[in-house]
Amino acid sequence: MIPGADDPSPRRIIHIDMDAFFASVEQRDNPALRGRPVAVGGSSQRGVVAAASYEARVFGVRSAMPSVTAARLCPDLIFVKSRFEVYRAVSQQIREIFADYTPLVEPLSLDEAYLDVTDHLPDGMTATAIAKQIRARIRQVTGLTASAGVSYNKFLAKLASDQNKPDGLCVITPDRGPEFVLKLPVGKFHGIGPATAAKMQAMGLHTGADLRAQSLEFLTRRFGKAGRYYWNISRGVDFRRVSPDRIRKSVGAENTFAADLMTLDQADQALEPLAAKVWTAVARHELQGRTVTIKAKFSDFQQVTRARSLGHPVASETELLTIARDLVRIVLPDPRGARLLGITLSGFDVPDDGPEQLDLFA
Ligand SMILES: [Mg+2]
Repeated sequence: MIPGADDPSPRRIIHIDMDAFFASVEQRDNPALRGRPVAVGGSSQRGVVAAASYEARVFGVRSAMPSVTAARLCPDLIFVKSRFEVYRAVSQQIREIFADYTPLVEPLSLDEAYLDVTDHLPDGMTATAIAKQIRARIRQVTGLTASAGVSYNKFLAKLASDQNKPDGLCVITPDRGPEFVLKLPVGKFHGIGPATAAKMQAMGLHTGADLRAQSLEFLTRRFGKAGRYYWNISRGVDFRRVSPDRIRKSVGAENTFAADLMTLDQADQALEPLAAKVWTAVARHELQGRTVTIKAKFSDFQQVTRARSLGHPVASETELLTIARDLVRIVLPDPRGARLLGITLSGFDVPDDGPEQLDLFA
């Protein structure tokens, strides 16, 4: 069967993604930055790149990369402090544009959203025509470019928006969907993180075709509930609905160290970039969390977690780091040494009904 085509209720999904969002806003507002390699984020020893302009990406600079690494890759890199209040205002502008087309808008972050326009197509208008209109309006209103993907499910729409970036449009029709995922490396699949991708590669599963060759039974045995999702997406099938109220439950970052950490001083240092990474994501996703959890894995692979819930949302990166350092003192130092540390923020002030978790791997 052709998924989507034979689906009793095929959807028309658009994924909109602003191009190098934070960096583009900075280049828009400061002409001196245009055409230059720009990184949004702190340049300090423990800073992390929150976003990189396309000129910086040429050098291999990527978001979530330590600033020190970025500066080494691109010596002329210009670091700019983030201005989340401006990014939030632009985000509000694009969401107002989305709302003119459908109530079914699911934001993934400040600069990205799924739109389901299936039941909201004006007479004679296709989803592709709407995507074109939205891109034009975003440019007109914000002075920034967005890329759009159009397809019959979320998974393929998101893949599509990435195809012709920046300032691109890509449509994946139901007859092309299953074919499209065959050559795709598993690491490019949305929903397959770096850890899972590594696990798959170790099993000889490198592409969509490799995944498709496995039975549903095999994939669920190896990957649990996610196995069915992998089985589906390797066929271009994705039944997830665009849900405007989808909520993230937690944001976490963790790092496995080349050498086990033996002292509190080492742990304190290791927690700093993790807190920076979590905080960047928290700001980007407009979240306010009250529960801080730290995780430590010892050299014998025993794992412990410790958590603290506050009466108020964690207010700053400094507060997050301070609490994490307090918590780590409950479990460290330990003669076994810590091979991994992680920080998670949860307890967001929103209805708690979504399965979504955002993992950031160092
Ligand atoms: Mg983007």
